[in-house]
Amino acid sequence: HAVETLADELASIDNQLLAARAADMRDVGRRVLSALREEEGEESPSPAGTPDSPVVIVAEDLSPSDTAGLDRERVAGLVTALGGPTSHTAIIARTLGLPAVVALGRDLLDKPASTAIVDGDTGRVWLDPTEEDLSAARERMRTLREREEAERAARMEPGKTADGRIIAVAANVNRPSQVAEAIDMGCEGVGLMRTEFLFLERDTTPTEDEQYEIYRAMLSALGGRPLIVRALDIGGDKRVPHLNLPHEENPFLGVRGVRLLLRRPELLYPQVRALYRAAREGNGLSVMFPMVGTLEEIRRFRAVCEEVRASLDAPRIPLGIMVEVPAAALLAEEYAPEVDFFSIGTNDLTQYTLAVDRGNTKISVLYDGLHPAVLRLMKMTCDAGRKAGIDVGICGEMGGQLEATPLLVGMGFNEISISGKMLPAVKYSISRLNAKACRELLDKAIAANDADAVRKLLQEIKH
Ligand code: PEP
Ligand code: MG
Repeated sequence: HAVETLADELASIDNQLLAARAADMRDVGRRVLSALREEEGEESPSPAGTPDSPVVIVAEDLSPSDTAGLDRERVAGLVTALGGPTSHTAIIARTLGLPAVVALGRDLLDKPASTAIVDGDTGRVWLDPTEEDLSAARERMRTLREREEAERAARMEPGKTADGRIIAVAANVNRPSQVAEAIDMGCEGVGLMRTEFLFLERDTTPTEDEQYEIYRAMLSALGGRPLIVRALDIGGDKRVPHLNLPHEENPFLGVRGVRLLLRRPELLYPQVRALYRAAREGNGLSVMFPMVGTLEEIRRFRAVCEEVRASLDAPRIPLGIMVEVPAAALLAEEYAPEVDFFSIGTNDLTQYTLAVDRGNTKISVLYDGLHPAVLRLMKMTCDAGRKAGIDVGICGEMGGQLEATPLLVGMGFNEISISGKMLPAVKYSISRLNAKACRELLDKAIAANDADAVRKLLQEIKH
């Protein structure tokens, strides 16, 4: 009863992400009950056994723990009537690399079938497909496997287009313990270390010394490869209870990122000191500031950095900004001479340009980085960076969106920083592209009227 009451409360929340947690709550409840029953000597219902030959599981829904316990060797795919893309079942399936399609609707359960094709990439399922469909699917699986093998084999090559343009491919990594894995996936550095996790995963503010140890460990794990640390980006959806920040009606447009740091010296100074102390000991460190909108913010954070650097007698390090507020992209020509590099944060640039909350699943169809309005701002930023002779990188999720790779190559990014598991695929795509052809494609894309037209153009180029 207690579990059901809590689960019902969660399910009724007007936020899909939180409502989907009801399934997690019921899952925990079921497991606790089954453990209690065993203690009392009652036999617990055994989890459904899966046959030895690989099967596609079709279910109303699966609990996250059932999904996590699936044997990857014996389960070829997963299809559910309920759930959603942000449910933990979907997240776990993604982590397991298991083809999965969720939320197909209850009709699914009334359709008996003995064979199925599950295409997790496009979210499509074929029940009792024809022999012809099956052989086409097998052929596609073979091509995908071959491609993956080729990507893996080439992952340690430096990022370079077919016509020789160098584009460093870096990873977004937050912890020193994750660096080795990223290097093994072929990363050439870390293009974004989000330092919020130092604050979000504990209930006290980390001290200067604690931060210093972590930055130093990052540099040492990277062994001289470049590392861009982003100063704290608290605010928006990243709330830290122990900072006791006042409630805001509109947090994404409120005291977030650099705005908060410049108002809270007790957060800014220890972090900057910790960073410069680490810079005295290891090579490759750069620092960037999030949510920058105005020239005054740039000048103020640079002044703080210089003051701290001089007081510690530390070396100068590149200081850059995230370009994620449309104002910064529009004034990129004016800002470029004031900073050492730009890094475009497409996650926020998309939400602020299109006025679409990045976490609101009800309007997620509107949230699209391929919208020409977003592409134009990105191109303006890249052009301004090139003109001023500074590096321009991208560290938002769009960097790992393979369909967008030709546009990113066309923009002339110096670095693309992405989540580790996408590294081999993105690097491989870059190696098959021609920078000049990508530039021509980009010119057409930014002249398009909508994202659909951009997607159509992207089909012209194979990579
Ligand atoms: C971005 O906005 O694209 C970005 C990389 O920062 P975050 O996702 O942490 O806001
Ligand atoms: Mg951002």
